[in-house]
Amino acid sequence: MWSNPLIPNTTHGLEVGKHGNVITDPLTGKTSRKGVFAGGDIATGAATVILAMGAARVAARA
Ligand SMILES: Cc1cc2nc3c(=O)[nH]c(=O)nc-3n(C[C@H](O)[C@H](O)[C@H](O)COP(=O)(O)OP(=O)(O)OC[C@H]3O[C@@H](n4cnc5c(N)ncnc54)[C@H](O)[C@@H]3O)c2cc1C
Repeated sequence: MWSNPLIPNTTHGLEVGKHGNVITDPLTGKTSRKGVFAGGDIATGAATVILAMGAARVAARA
């Protein structure tokens, strides 16, 4: 399944994978754009609420 392309297409400097997912550092949620973090389905592809919530905690901590 492909991720919603709106944000990756309109946000300069955001590295995107072959399925349109935003590439993040799994340990921090950091994206290729300074100061921008991502998690949840846009980073992993379709997954679960609990994974999205966990990614938000990781990003908040980082
Ligand atoms: C039919 C269905 C059933 C599911 N059932 C389960 C289940 O039983 N249990 C489970 O754990 N998971 C389930 N999931 C998966 C779960 O819904 C997702 O993994 C979870 O919602 C991902 O959360 P998220 O915050 O990453 O993304 P989302 O919940 O998709 O949130 C992204 C938000 O960003 C908004 N948005 C997008 N673009 C923009 C923009 N440009 N500007 C402003 N806002 C924007 C969207 O409107 C949306 O509200 C289900 C998914 C589907 C489709």
